[in-house]
This record gives sequence, C-alpha cells and structure tokens, in this order.
Amino acid sequence: VHTRRSCGSSPNGEKPRPSMLRHLTSKIKATGPISVAEYMREVLTNPVTGYYVRNNMLGPDGDFITSPEISQIFGELLGVWILSEWMGGGRPKQLQLVELGPGKGSLASDVLRVFSQLRSVLGEASVSLHLVEVSPVLSRLQAQNLTGNYSQEAGAEDEPIYRRGETTTGLPVSWYRCLDDVPAGFSIFLAHEFFDALPIHKFQRTEKGWREVMVDIDPETPDRLRFVVTPSPTLASSTLVQADERRDHVEVCAEGGVIIQQLARRISEDGGAALIADYGHDGTKTDTFRGFKGHQLHDVLVSPGSADLTADVDFSYLRRMAAGGVVCLGPVTQRTFLKNMGIDTRLQVLLRNCADPSTRKQLISSYDMLTNPAKMGERFHFFSLLPHSRLSKPKKPEGLKMEKKSPAPLPVAGFSELSFS
Ligand code: SAH
Repeated sequence: VHTRRSCGSSPNGEKPRPSMLRHLTSKIKATGPISVAEYMREVLTNPVTGYYVRNNMLGPDGDFITSPEISQIFGELLGVWILSEWMGGGRPKQLQLVELGPGKGSLASDVLRVFSQLRSVLGEASVSLHLVEVSPVLSRLQAQNLTGNYSQEAGAEDEPIYRRGETTTGLPVSWYRCLDDVPAGFSIFLAHEFFDALPIHKFQRTEKGWREVMVDIDPETPDRLRFVVTPSPTLASSTLVQADERRDHVEVCAEGGVIIQQLARRISEDGGAALIADYGHDGTKTDTFRGFKGHQLHDVLVSPGSADLTADVDFSYLRRMAAGGVVCLGPVTQRTFLKNMGIDTRLQVLLRNCADPSTRKQLISSYDMLTNPAKMGERFHFFSLLPHSRLSKPKKPEGLKMEKKSPAPLPVAGFSELSFS
C-alpha cells in the first residue's frame, strides 16, 4: 500500500503573490472586461504566475485530493481497463499510454505497476508513456515519481518534447505541452480531473437574448473583481450556445470541445480509446464555476492564482463535439465503473495480504471514499471514446448464410461487468 506525501500549495511557506491580480487588472484597464474563459486560462495556466504552473496543489496539505491520490486501487483498475482495451483493439504491437494532466504521476505509476505485473499479457508489445502537462513544477514531480533520476529536460524551449526519460520499469516517457505534439499511433488516452480545469465561457439568458458573463474591475473597490454581463452579444455568446438551449445560464468549455475533437480524430484514425473521469453532468447544470483552497470552497474572484478554479464537465457537450466520429460510452458513475472493474474483489485480495490494522483501516476507508454515493462514488463519472470498429461485429462473408455466428466483440470493461470469457 502506498502512502503519498505532498508539499502543499506554498512550498516555501511564501504568501500567494499579488502579481496575478495586478496582471489581470492592468489587462482589464487596457482592453476592457475579459471573458470567464480568459480569466480562468490566465489564473490557472499563465506561464509565469499561473496556479498550475507554480504550485503542487494535490494532497492532504494542498488544495484538493483526487482519487488516484486516495488509493492505489484506482490506478490499478484503470491499468486493467487499458489492457482490456488494448486486447479489444486487436493487441497492436505498439501501445502508447497518453495521460492528460497527470498531476503527481500517481495514476500513471499505478497503471505501469499493473503493466509490469501482467507483462506476460502484453507479450512482445512495446509500451511508451506520453504525458501532456503545462506545469513545470508538476512535470518535475512526475519525473521524480516515475523515473527516479532518469529524465532530462530538453535543451531548447520550443521543442515539442520538453522532457524525456525512462520509467523505473524501463519504458520510454516523454513530456509535451499540448496533445497536438504527441505522435500518432494506437493510443489509450487517460484524463482524470483534467477537463474540469479547462477554461469555460459563461452565458446568461436575458430579455434581449444570450449574453456573455465577463470579469471586470469593481468600480467601488479598484483592487476587487466582479462579474458583469455584456450589453451586446459576443462572438462566443452567438456561436457557443445551442439554439434549443432551455437553461437560463450555461457554461461551455470550448477548449475541452477542441480536445475531444482531436481525441476522436486520433482514435478513429489510429485506434485506441480515451477514458475521461471527472465530476460533471449531462447538460443539466447551470452555475458550477468554483474555487478550492485548502480543501475549502473559495470565491473564484478573490486572490486569483492562490486557489484552484474548476467547473463541472458537461458530458453532453463532449458527446456532441465527438460528433459521431467515435462511439461515446457513459457517463457512468465512478461507483458503477469501479464495481464493474472488480474493486470489491481487489479490496478483498489486498486485505487478505495485509495484517497491519492501521493499513487495513486505511484500505477500507479509501475504498469507501471512492465508491460511497455520498462521497466520490456518484459525484465522479466515467466517459469513454472508442473507434466504431471496436463495437461492431466482424463482417460475415456474403452468401455464406449457414456460417457459424461471428464472435461478438469483447464487452467494454467498466461500462458493463468485466468478463474474462
Ligand atoms: N490527473 C491528476 C491531476 C489533476 S489536476 C489527478 O487526478 O490527480 C489537473 C492537471 O492538469 C494538473 O496536472 C495540471 O497541471 C494539468 N493541466 C491543467 N490545465 C492544463 C492544460 N491546459 N494543458 C495541460 N495540462 C493541464
């Protein structure tokens, strides 16, 4: 059982710098109110002062904790899912494991442990790891966790691969700033709590039609920010809201839509699958934009850059953006997905092999955290993109009506009960 430590959001005990607020107010003074998407992008990923770029925010001492950090079982079950989709894809000779926003690298590390334990299943296949990460701080932490000291930063700043190395299990690993830079080829993509960190636009229904919500300086208190609604439509408000939208307030993550389109194209061309896990809804929620600091809710406009900003993922929007190029499965709840993947059996095995009472207690409580409907079990959802070929029956040759039935495709693990037939 792995215990995970974190060094918190302010590693040197320094106070959050005021420079992000200064940067935003001077920007607004120069060009006017900014969209919520631009606000979120600046606050989270500005290359100098962005929240993700400067902080290690994950873990008990940070701002939030995620499932892969709570229990090793989570990543192990995802490892089994990946192997099962690699088999469902016809066991190709090359397997790229691509993770978007890998955090501390714990999920990838648990997946790779399963790969080495089940090495015989993979046979001759060569596996490589590809990490898409904007944060230099987190990429260093990922490198430490996954490679020990076997990684090196690229010489030039504009190289698509900004770091490369070899994992402790002997696999090549590379780091990229964006998905576009990852080479083509059969790939399984993982995105855990990644889409919720991407910038959203916010729109408000008014008597005059849809208007965009923007961030402006509060005229009463110049060092405070406030939300305003634009008097006339913006490009975003006239293109991103669905014509038949029934809600009064909507959030649209256009950047998430672009990434889904890229994933769908890659999967339909090169085979593979994407597994996306996040909190979210199916096109029903309205105002979900919020901040987290020290595991508490935090006003999104107060001391920007010192807290995580997030919005629920709209899975119906992701499905629409995939636009039939791939099959979309889910969203199913985390509880259903993990139960289908055999989390109960895995817990029993770990408990059987563990005598230490405090570790046993910890195993049980982390299992409860992940699956309990009142905890993470129903708040988080799993969603998958697969090539159409994965679920279609192999074609029967024409004219041979009396042939044996063609084999049914392997069921997709997690979305239905895992079967080993
Ligand atoms: N998957 C991890 C971390 C989630 S936090 C876990 O579940 O524990 C979000 C992760 O996405 C961080 O690693 C963050 O640095 C990264 N990230 C945020 N925005 C990004 C972007 N636009 N491009 C690439 N990575 C991004």
